[in-house]
Amino acid sequence: DIFASIADPVAWWAERYPAIPALAEGERVMSYGEADARSTRLAATLAERGLAAGDRFYIVGENGFATALSVLAAAKLGAWAIPINARLSSGEIDAIRDHARPKLALYTDSVSDEATAHGARHGAAPVAELDDLGATLAAFGDADPAVDESGEDPADRVAVMIYTSGTTGKPKGVMLTHRNLLFIGARSGDSRRVTPGDRIYGVLPISHVFGLASVYLGNMYMGGRVDLIPRFSAEHALAAIEGGAISLFNGVPQMYARILELTTIRGRALNPGRIRYLSSGGAPLDLGLKRRVEAAFGVPLHNGYGMTETAPTISVTDIDRPRDDDTVGEIIPDVQVRIVGDDGGALPTDMVGEIQVSGPLVMKGYYKAPGETAAVHDGLWFKTGDLGRLNADGLLYVVGRRKELIIRSGFNVYPPEVEAAITLHPDVGLCAVVGRPARDGNEEVVAFIQPVQGRTPSAADLAAFVADKLSAYKRPGRWEFRDSLPATAAGKILKHKLDG
Ligand code: ATP
Ligand code: MG
Repeated sequence: DIFASIADPVAWWAERYPAIPALAEGERVMSYGEADARSTRLAATLAERGLAAGDRFYIVGENGFATALSVLAAAKLGAWAIPINARLSSGEIDAIRDHARPKLALYTDSVSDEATAHGARHGAAPVAELDDLGATLAAFGDADPAVDESGEDPADRVAVMIYTSGTTGKPKGVMLTHRNLLFIGARSGDSRRVTPGDRIYGVLPISHVFGLASVYLGNMYMGGRVDLIPRFSAEHALAAIEGGAISLFNGVPQMYARILELTTIRGRALNPGRIRYLSSGGAPLDLGLKRRVEAAFGVPLHNGYGMTETAPTISVTDIDRPRDDDTVGEIIPDVQVRIVGDDGGALPTDMVGEIQVSGPLVMKGYYKAPGETAAVHDGLWFKTGDLGRLNADGLLYVVGRRKELIIRSGFNVYPPEVEAAITLHPDVGLCAVVGRPARDGNEEVVAFIQPVQGRTPSAADLAAFVADKLSAYKRPGRWEFRDSLPATAAGKILKHKLDG
């Protein structure tokens, strides 16, 4: 344990190999030496504005130099970085601000109109140190006092606070420590064997833990170069891959689906260029999609599983042992996982129960929510709220979320399995399966469908389509069609907002 701060490994590379490329934004490339020096200068600028250890620092930005460097700058001061997705609505940005009560906020130029208006409302203004990085700073007069962490081991102080996606309810502020992020950063880079010379397509937002810890820090800790991409576009991603400079790509399943769709539309096979490693995470990866991606790229698509509260990676398929099924892989070294039944006891191999985790990856807690923290963490085990099983080879399978499990006539229905079957239909764009109370006191399976634009599948079509794919009790009893399903900025469907 030679590092106590998430900025330390970057300084380590800067000291030894100052000239190798660390970050890129468009055509501009920044070396490790420069990235470290600039984040130190930015820290000084933020300190002049009053930011100190234990203060919260709001970063409303898309991926770019300003966002990447300000996370390191905050760490150098002991302040808590709170990266926020720049595409949230002004109301969502305010709701998080009201909860976190930060002292300073940084806004990058390329944020949404709503986020820009948010900055303007709070008097965001240019600062010399950020001029060429395209960002402004605002100070809030109503900040909460700094959190006193002086009694804690430096590595156990909060480095970053990330609000969860809010897929299952209201967003929670997850406090991640330097230890959490150093651990996952190192393990992630390691699991992909990143070395200087690797070039990573950094499109997963730094405002989400997968983009922050697994992609950004994971690659910076190994001397790789991270190309900071402000927002996903299938055209841009495909051009970058085919340009032959990118060696690693990490995405959510939807990104892979869109890239493949684009190659189909243009009618020419994908040229994988220099790609040597692909991974997907953050949402269930459909096996059909995984196979199509592997056929197109000629390399395995690794599936990783995790969540904001575990910084995020709990498991990933091994680089040397790619899999051809829907496992989320092997538990990463130094992490313990157990599967727990309804009575709280650990279950044997192959049995489905709640996935519980322990190890250096588990968050410090939810900010200002000790009750919610205690509900998911008993001091040793963190309760993920996901259901899954471990097989005899130690491979983990995720079958769905506990809250979303549907019990129909005594049988368990796991929505992801039903969604995967429905999504195979060519007219289905998005689909969400939920349980709704039925007249007989049972639950019925309801499917919400967002058709592909211009298509109008009927309930009868879809029912016939899934009939040979799902046993009777798993088949939806009701089909609801919507022009669009409520989703997070990252594209996850908000099931609690589905009405009908
Ligand atoms: P909230 O907790 O606010 O409701 P959220 O759980 O969607 O939101 P995240 O932490 O971004 O917020 O998502 C983590 C969840 O995503 C996991 O708990 C799991 O349900 C799902 N998930 C992540 N990776 C995978 C994967 N590879 N396969 C299946 N499910 C996954
Ligand atoms: Mg969650």
